[in-house]
Amino acid sequence: MLGELEQNNATARATPLVDERGVLTNLLISVAPIALLVLFYLWLFKKQSGMLGMGGFGAGKKFQPVDPEKIRVTFKDVAGIDEVEAEISEVVDFLKDPKRYQAIGAKPPKGVLLSGPPGTGKTLLARATAGEARVPFFHASSSEFVEMVVGVGASRVRELFQAARTAAPSIIFIDEIDAIGRKRSSSLAVGGHDEREQTLNQILTEMDGFSSSEEIVVLAATNRPDVLDPALLRPGRFDRSITVHAPDQVGRAQILRVHTASVKTSPDVDLDALSRITPGMTGAELANLVNEAALLAVKRSRPAVTQRELLDALEKVRLGTVRNVIMPAEERKRTAYHESGHALLGMLEPGADPVRKISIIPRGRALGVTLSTSDTDRYGYDENYLKGRIVGARGGMTAEDLVFGVVTTGAESDLQTSTHLARMMVGRWGMSKRIGPVQVLPEEGDPRAAGVSEGMLDTVAKEVRALVEQCHQRAFELLQENRWRLDSLAERLLEKETLDDQEIYEAAGLHRTTAPDPATPRVNSQQ
Ligand code: ADP
Ligand code: MG
Ligand code: ZN
Repeated sequence: MLGELEQNNATARATPLVDERGVLTNLLISVAPIALLVLFYLWLFKKQSGMLGMGGFGAGKKFQPVDPEKIRVTFKDVAGIDEVEAEISEVVDFLKDPKRYQAIGAKPPKGVLLSGPPGTGKTLLARATAGEARVPFFHASSSEFVEMVVGVGASRVRELFQAARTAAPSIIFIDEIDAIGRKRSSSLAVGGHDEREQTLNQILTEMDGFSSSEEIVVLAATNRPDVLDPALLRPGRFDRSITVHAPDQVGRAQILRVHTASVKTSPDVDLDALSRITPGMTGAELANLVNEAALLAVKRSRPAVTQRELLDALEKVRLGTVRNVIMPAEERKRTAYHESGHALLGMLEPGADPVRKISIIPRGRALGVTLSTSDTDRYGYDENYLKGRIVGARGGMTAEDLVFGVVTTGAESDLQTSTHLARMMVGRWGMSKRIGPVQVLPEEGDPRAAGVSEGMLDTVAKEVRALVEQCHQRAFELLQENRWRLDSLAERLLEKETLDDQEIYEAAGLHRTTAPDPATPRVNSQQ
């Protein structure tokens, strides 16, 4: 057909029905989905790294110091731990005037480890140190380092130290360092092990890296100093270790003063008296106590906090909040005998802490409570005192058994207390003749892994049992001999629901012996 057309001088033009695409277009089209996918991943990645805390992958925000002008906390806010303050003030001194140290060639402390129970003011003290020295303060919690993505922790440590170097003189504070600083061999850590180890190694490297001419002090806090990797505590790293204890009576009064300073109090408030009945309480607990009292004052529309509110708040903090349930008469009676049993043994056992309060008003999980606290602070316990405590803990269950001939689930926490105490006495405190003065039970983990034989563990179990049984026997005999006191106490308790110390001793027909034999507060509760 084309030939014919051309012979007749016709112009023939033909275009293909389908447009042929160029090579480039073809390529573009086939690559586009992949490109889109890549873009999507990049977007996801960025979004995720944005969520990974402040730093991300070095692309996000950097570590920002807390401006010294903004830290309003100074040593004035930290009360009752003067000896700790004195030790740490050397750090402040160095940061304020490093030249003096350098002139003599004295090496300042590089790392200071604050250890002590929760709520004793470690974090507060670190902040106050920065506030006193008036230098930038880098605050990092260990958990911030351990992220989902491996390698982030180490890079964040590097960033943190870099930022601190730039801002020097400065303070780095790593809170709850045990989260990353656990012994590396420890088989307890599950998951994130490598990540934690890398982070820890990076901290060690950074601390080794800075010379004494660098004006950075690293503070760290932990409430588990025993699980820390020894490498952290080597000279040149956290070579200074400061133990923060729960405050003594004078300290508690000072802490109460600090925290009531911003609260309106009536003139009848006696903080010294309050400090005497709060042995064992930490700074955080005292701060909470003051606040609870202030809340109570608001609730009662008082113009200021009075001693009444403080005492009521103490009761609430110690015994728990009252639960509004109506107990069946039978159960109430059993609870009354249970608590009377605890209280009576607490009064009869020589050297036990004086009984302060008994109540059969249900609070929290407990159906009733018996509160006994010492008159003063106590730092160690002797064998007889501990036995007395086991006897006291047996009191509730034994009284129920004696009077009603039943055992109830309410005694669970009592059993737990007495078993735990007995295990500690036998296995850790060397108070068993058959085991001898050796420590059999490790602080944590399987004793078998620590090289303790099955036979030894068997003996421990037998000794624990013998000890508890001996104490039980004594509890039973004491209650049997003093049955009338038990009945009288339970009766009065059923009538009044809550008894305070004077009423308790009176109902039991006993005189309070003010034996100067103190201890930390304890609560026997029935669930
Ligand atoms: P830790 O870090 O040791 O667990 P914190 O430093 O977080 O305890 O203490 C919590 C709160 O308890 C503080 O903010 C403070 O209000 C109060 N507190 C603790 N110890 C003291 C103290 N020694 N003096 C004054 N307040 C304290
Ligand atoms: Mg803390
Ligand atoms: Zn009990």
